[in-house]
Amino acid sequence: MDQNIATIPMVDLKKEIKLLRRPLMQALTEVLDSGEYVLGEKGRKLERMTANYLGLKYSLGVANGTDALKLSLKALNIGPGDEVVTTPFTFVATAEAIAQVGAKPVFIDIDKETYNLDSNKLESALTPNSKAIIVVHLFGQAANMQEITKIAKANHLFVIEDACQSFGTEYQGKRVGSIGDIGCFSFFPSKNLGGFGDGGLVTMNEKTLYDKIGTLRNHGSSEKYLHSMIGENSRLNEFQAAVLLVKLHYLEPYLKRRIDTASRYTKKLHEAIKTPAIPKDRQHTFHQYCIEHDRRNELIEELKRNQIDSAIYYPVPLHLQEAFHYLGYKNGDFPIAEDVSSRILGLPISSMLSIENQNHIIATVNEFTEKTLP
Ligand SMILES: *Cc1c(COP(=O)(O)O)cnc(C)c1O
Repeated sequence: MDQNIATIPMVDLKKEIKLLRRPLMQALTEVLDSGEYVLGEKGRKLERMTANYLGLKYSLGVANGTDALKLSLKALNIGPGDEVVTTPFTFVATAEAIAQVGAKPVFIDIDKETYNLDSNKLESALTPNSKAIIVVHLFGQAANMQEITKIAKANHLFVIEDACQSFGTEYQGKRVGSIGDIGCFSFFPSKNLGGFGDGGLVTMNEKTLYDKIGTLRNHGSSEKYLHSMIGENSRLNEFQAAVLLVKLHYLEPYLKRRIDTASRYTKKLHEAIKTPAIPKDRQHTFHQYCIEHDRRNELIEELKRNQIDSAIYYPVPLHLQEAFHYLGYKNGDFPIAEDVSSRILGLPISSMLSIENQNHIIATVNEFTEKTLP
């Protein structure tokens, strides 16, 4: 092992930024000189461009992805007494947003191949208080929207897409975030489309929802100093919008490189390793590339010894998190989410990962696997 080799990080944002330095500096300078830093021309342009890219009528920039979810729930009048069905195998923000508006998160187990919520388990979780489903397109892979939309329609439920990890992912000819009633995105730096700080986006086709969320994000005001409802301060600033406009321009080739890296991993990793499944009707843009391994914790150490970062997404499913104890779930309630949590491991993946580093990662994982085969 060569101590001079730098550790391969999960994502290499610095390297990505280096390539785009000129257009990024240009865009940031334009904002500096504009004198307009919140709700300005860059933000409006980003809203137009993202709505266009995602294939829907409206986009609204907000402060972060969690706010995107929270404002969506508020706009649909979801609050105390209401239940929202979602997956326990996601980043905490999905359920946190439900709790923050005073509604109750109701979890259902996941599909063991795609890690997205299992639509077969949806109907049994519904009660007269169910108002909405938050579907998460996890790790960059589209969830089973056809089935979920059908069940939602039959039961008069809203569908909110948590597409925070899946900007650009397609599903049956549409982009995720444009299929349900509302789509939510995060521009956290490490996401498929990331800014230089926090940011988020809410997307919709309904004019009434557009107007309402536009008002809610800006202190309940659609006309200066007139407040029609209690809102919040959740706006995307002009610097983030400027950065995101530049990065949106380069998104497609960057996503393609992630997808190419992932298919290389899948082709070359040892056959005893469970690699990501992609059903025929789905697309996966690989915000994360996660494998399952029986000896995951030892593998993490072996990767570390070889200067390779890895990360567990997610070590504890939400129904077992202390913050959600009040919901009354216990160990064993969602066996698939629990089993996957104990075995899953994310490997480095980014548009900037070199072939040499990919090969080093593949060889390290394969050698360890070969050595430890039962
Ligand atoms: C990142 C993320 C969020 C929240 O986004 P923030 O911008 O960090 O608030 C919500 N849901 C999922 C699935 C995410 O990955």
